[in-house]
Amino acid sequence: ALRAGLRQRNEALRETMGRLQEMVLRDELTGVHNRRYILDVLRRQSSLADREQQGFTICYCDLDHFKQVNDQFGHVTGDKALRLFAQLAAGVIRNIDYVARFGGEEFVLVLVGADETASEQVANRLRVCTSELEIPGTSDGFVLTVSIGVTKARPGERVEDALARADRALYAAKIGGRNRVVVADA
Ligand code: GH3
Ligand code: MG
Ligand code: MG
Repeated sequence: ALRAGLRQRNEALRETMGRLQEMVLRDELTGVHNRRYILDVLRRQSSLADREQQGFTICYCDLDHFKQVNDQFGHVTGDKALRLFAQLAAGVIRNIDYVARFGGEEFVLVLVGADETASEQVANRLRVCTSELEIPGTSDGFVLTVSIGVTKARPGERVEDALARADRALYAAKIGGRNRVVVADA
């Protein structure tokens, strides 16, 4: 009985550990990685790039006028849209790349070993597919769009600086009319 009890406790502990690990790695709503995890990935990729082993790019995505989605169709539909976009992003990248929900309606892709040209293509594919998403709960004719800022990390720079540059490119995409991809100047 003692051994059976111990076995049960071990099993429960393993389950808890697994759940904790998921919480550390993943965003609860969308199932893609979370901010903490992608910052770790970026730091790791950054030191690899510093040793000139492999560069990477950042695609900073922000859904357009997302507040209106909630206002028009409700939060449940907004959440559904976030999940569908996350799934789409996960399907667009290769299995060596990463996607995370960085917060709210913002997502970050890390494309390993990619240059700006290839990354712009990936970002544009994601942008076009986003505008083709059918989101249950929205009205006919509603189109979800995304703006994306793309940049290549520079050797020796801090992750925060690369992210800030991607964010500035994203801002330029918003100012430029949204539903577009802007690559930061090299
Ligand atoms: P812009 O094109 O300039 O990015 O406009 P926006 O409306 O997307 O930007 P803003 O930052 O004003 O609003 C972001 C909205 O995203 C507000 C908030 O209600 C919504 N949002 C953030 N997190 C969640 C979430 O977890 N679920 C839902 N449903 N909505 C969320
Ligand atoms: Mg935003
Ligand atoms: Mg937005």
